[in-house]
Amino acid sequence: MPDFIIQATYFLGALLFILGLKQMSSPVTARRGIVWAGVGMVLATLITYFHHEINHNYILMTVAIAIGGIIAFVSGKKVAMTDMPQMIALYNGMGGGAAAAIAAVVLIQQQPMSMTVQTLAVVGALIGTVAFSGSLIAFFKLQGILKGVIRFPMQQWINALVFVITLTFGLAIILSGTQYEMSSLAIFFVLALVFGVLMTVPIGGADMPVVISLYNALTGLAVGFEGFVLENPAMMIAGIVVGSAGTLLTQLMAKAMNRPITNVLFSNFGDGGDGEAAEVSGSMKEIDSTDVAVMMAFAEKVIVIPGYGMAVAQAQHKVWELTKQLQERGVNVKFAIHPVAGRMPGHMNVLLAEAGVPYDIIYDLDEINDEFATTDVVLVIGANDVVNPAARTDANSPIYGMPILNADYAKNVIVVKRGKGAGFSGIENHLFFADNTRMLYGDGQAVASELVSNIKEL
Ligand code: NAP
Repeated sequence: MPDFIIQATYFLGALLFILGLKQMSSPVTARRGIVWAGVGMVLATLITYFHHEINHNYILMTVAIAIGGIIAFVSGKKVAMTDMPQMIALYNGMGGGAAAAIAAVVLIQQQPMSMTVQTLAVVGALIGTVAFSGSLIAFFKLQGILKGVIRFPMQQWINALVFVITLTFGLAIILSGTQYEMSSLAIFFVLALVFGVLMTVPIGGADMPVVISLYNALTGLAVGFEGFVLENPAMMIAGIVVGSAGTLLTQLMAKAMNRPITNVLFSNFGDGGDGEAAEVSGSMKEIDSTDVAVMMAFAEKVIVIPGYGMAVAQAQHKVWELTKQLQERGVNVKFAIHPVAGRMPGHMNVLLAEAGVPYDIIYDLDEINDEFATTDVVLVIGANDVVNPAARTDANSPIYGMPILNADYAKNVIVVKRGKGAGFSGIENHLFFADNTRMLYGDGQAVASELVSNIKEL
């Protein structure tokens, strides 16, 4: 097949990645975006069969694609929504590993190449390998296979030392042209793997989504670099797109949690506060679901704030049923989503979409925050940190400065949770003690079901 057709097909594939990603920015078009990007991937894969450097390795290629495709299809169909972060970690690790494997093959061949290309191959290998082993550790942590954080004395110094030695080996490989020993190459890869592990083990499981997003950016970069090495435009563009999207997402998550990325990578959560967090005054006041049903059914406006607990309880379907009932009674119901509610970006949006909640009643923090003051009832279901007013008022709180949903400004706040469990940040929530707040204890799904049947009986 003429080379220009192959290159043009790669280019078309890359274009579909970009257009697909663009469509993923809105929930209305996101599903189509995934399909477009998938078609781009199929095109890029198929045209590779005609690439002149394939050397007739068709059987190996087909077997590899079949194994990968079947595993991805089956696991993608089976994965529970709450297990999505570790699934992404695993897939991302595979991407980084693939980029590193390409670099390894190129470097093992020891063919003459320009210093620029060799540098890109080595840097891509380093980044891809770190993303590979780091993402696997993130997967093990989120899956509960690896529990807790591993810390030891002088850890950051030892990590830095391993990184510097890895870099030195990389530099030596670049500078020696084609004269490097295979053992140096092997040591370089092993050290990069070790560095990925060392860098990730001290980070707490709950910070993993941010770390995965960072590794995602690194994987993109590694793929982009190796795309330059192979002169493959689809890989270059896809890598750059993933690299920049991952970087933006990492920044966005860190900003929404009000923590610099260095704090996520190099310190325990909660290290940020300088002094004692403010004591909470008042008491938590309980309410039962019959009273809440009356309160909501006769309200003019209700805002629902879902959080991580709604995902744990899988309460989204019941919450939507409750919403429909309220709407039938003429109540204006809206959903308010905090950018880091749950444990991964878009966590709540995905759950609500799965339950069938229409997008036009789902609002972002900036869109809805001014409306709380005119809201009769706010139903906080399984959310905690994202509604904690300490972020606004207590300079010593670890979440101080994090933008929050202004639930406390509403006339009445109902908080659904199982007990006195803290949120992700492990701190007390001042909202739960406020005069206008009532606690409705129980599992999110069970409570939502009770509210549904209580409202039916009114
Ligand atoms: P959260 O602060 O983690 O609080 C979740 C609450 O849900 C807990 O207080 C828990 O209390 C309750 N809960 C757990 N299981 C429940 C169940 N079955 N039924 C009812 N309630 C249940 O949640 P959030 O307000 O969504 O905040 C997210 C936090 O995660 C933020 O601090 C954010 O910075 C962090 N984070 C987010 C991301 C992201 O990308 N979204 C990534 C990393 C970290 P009980 O135990 O008493 O029930």
